[in-house]
Amino acid sequence: MGRVGLQNVMFASKLGFNLDIPEVAAFRKKVGTFVVLAKIAEIVEDGPWWYSACMCGRGVQAESGIYFCQFYNIHVTNVTLRFRVKVLVEDSTSVSIFFLFDREASYLLNKTCAQLFEQHLKDVDVVFGTQSPPIFQEIIGKIILFKVLSRPVGMEKFKGTYPVRCVCDDAAIV
Ligand SMILES: [Zn+2]
Repeated sequence: MGRVGLQNVMFASKLGFNLDIPEVAAFRKKVGTFVVLAKIAEIVEDGPWWYSACMCGRGVQAESGIYFCQFYNIHVTNVTLRFRVKVLVEDSTSVSIFFLFDREASYLLNKTCAQLFEQHLKDVDVVFGTQSPPIFQEIIGKIILFKVLSRPVGMEKFKGTYPVRCVCDDAAIV
């Protein structure tokens, strides 16, 4: 799949989607992104649903218990847990895979990553990311207006996965 095969916003208009309201105009503005109306069909469980982030927002990995930030080029201790949830989305014509990052995932789940982590501290599969928390099932079936980067994430492992930059599930718009 080259460009994402989902319906674009023009098609969404045929579904009665109002493109003239200011919220939507603002939503569409940024270059390098596209907007799709699609349903979350499933959670893709092929890696952790969270990552450790430095204050600069970049992911950091522990080496011998120490985190190193490549952006600041220093060891960092102030690390937070953030969402990175891979979801399969579909509309009537096709499917694609999107990444929901921290802002969007915590908005849709109404929880922070740290809160979920705390809830499942005793559940090894969830903590180590081989299984997603049960609450993730609640977003399956939701129809969302996604703003997505038009270029997939570069890492080979996630080839073809498009990072979500904004979500909208406002009943007045969707
Ligand atoms: Zn950093």
